[in-house]
Amino acid sequence: MKIICIGRNYAEHAAELNSAVPKEPVFFIKPETALMRAGYPFFIPAFSSNIHYEVELVLKITRVGKNIQERFAHRYYHEIGVGIDFTARDIQNQCKDEGLPWEKAKAFDGSAPVSQFVSLNSLRDDENIRFSLQKNGTVVQTGFSNDMIFSFNHLIAYVSQFVTLKTGDFLFTGTPAGVGSVQAGDLLEAFLEDKKMLHIPVK
Ligand code: MG
Repeated sequence: MKIICIGRNYAEHAAELNSAVPKEPVFFIKPETALMRAGYPFFIPAFSSNIHYEVELVLKITRVGKNIQERFAHRYYHEIGVGIDFTARDIQNQCKDEGLPWEKAKAFDGSAPVSQFVSLNSLRDDENIRFSLQKNGTVVQTGFSNDMIFSFNHLIAYVSQFVTLKTGDFLFTGTPAGVGSVQAGDLLEAFLEDKKMLHIPVK
């Protein structure tokens, strides 16, 4: 099982990090040890002094596929949830400056909490899915899937050229603007439409 994450898939978020809007998807992978199921706290790792939250829509892959054509990509997922792509922003910036891979900043243990999943059919508007993140009761990020630079189906087609998708893999589809840091004592709550999906005390 692997966690495939898309970077820079919302133009306003790319701008807030001074990153260019990509011409093709940017992806990286978190290992299974990054996964944290709903209901657990997040522990700030000792190696970073600037951990950021990034709330994202997450697809659960339901069949094996390689070189999936975009027009068939919808057959590879039926459920959606939300996750947080925790990022050691200080370390990521060092990696970017030195032209190094991002794994130290992105793939660490517990860096990928994922909610329960719901059927896409059960959403009020599965064409423009609304999701959000609250920190200590204040909304800090709101996203709409229509604002993605690359659609779910485009992402699946693109990634599967390089990496075989397997049943049970997760695809984090990118974060909207509003990322920021967390401190011990904060509470993060992620929502899909109006339904609370994640409750994460930060320790
Ligand atoms: Mg992200």
